[in-house]
Amino acid sequence: MRMDDQRRSTNIEDRRGMRGGGGGGFGGGLPVRMRGMGLIGIIILGLVLLFAPAGIRNMIIGQLTGGGGGASSSAVSTQQAGTQGCPQGDQACDFVSAVLGSTEDVWNSHFSSGNLPGGVRGAYEQPTLVLFEGQVATACGNATSAVGPFYCPGDAKLYIDLSFYETLARRLRAPGDFAQAYVIAHEVGHHVQNMIGATRYVDQARGTREQNPMSVRLELQADCLAGVWGHDANRGGQLEAGDLDEALTAAHAIGDDTLQRGSQGYVTPASFTHGTSEQRQRWFRRGYDSGDATQCDTFAVRDYNQL
Ligand SMILES: [Zn+2]
Repeated sequence: MRMDDQRRSTNIEDRRGMRGGGGGGFGGGLPVRMRGMGLIGIIILGLVLLFAPAGIRNMIIGQLTGGGGGASSSAVSTQQAGTQGCPQGDQACDFVSAVLGSTEDVWNSHFSSGNLPGGVRGAYEQPTLVLFEGQVATACGNATSAVGPFYCPGDAKLYIDLSFYETLARRLRAPGDFAQAYVIAHEVGHHVQNMIGATRYVDQARGTREQNPMSVRLELQADCLAGVWGHDANRGGQLEAGDLDEALTAAHAIGDDTLQRGSQGYVTPASFTHGTSEQRQRWFRRGYDSGDATQCDTFAVRDYNQL
């Protein structure tokens, strides 16, 4: 990606180097009521929940469903704000602030023109991207890097431990700057969904048979919205040869079927929450090719098997 001319976002909160990622760490805080995030928290949590060791995964799920998944794990520590913006000369931070700035430009424009699923129109509220190391306290609960990058609707912040990019490049074999940008664009997609009310479908399905299918619809829509961003970034001359393939390789690598085959050796479609590799690539492509966010209405596809 060419980022030289891209405006940098100032909505970066740097909590790296802070103990407990700006919170008091696990189990140390007072239990507080979860803010009704419930399932949405889980759904939106990260691209690679499957990579979390089982214990952590269960804890996170227990936390975010608010379903009594361990009292100690539902403790939320007081958040401390990090420093705003990137330290000078920090290239990794500079890169994410450029990508975030690019998403702001794109979604400002789509929100003002009303070119969104559901015909929503209005001002785009820019999310904050929090950089952390190891673990972090959020309005959705505490999380560790093991869950991968995620978005918390409760505080409208994206959370990423940049070491995930190592995982993406090596373990998932999806290297490249545009693969990294796609990760941010996907999480920003969840923020867009939060703003346009798409997350309510998933919330309504909580505890029902539709829970996982709704999650898949939400995740594929976030991929499509990431594609819309890619379309506009390309129109702005930011993409270089090979960039699109990097995003598609990443989308393939984090498909539920591919992840499950890698972790357990077989595939259980009923437990899918993000969609297959093929679906994730296809919905990204749909947004990328059209540049039209109204094409991203995964909730309008009647037959789940046709998604
Ligand atoms: Zn997601």
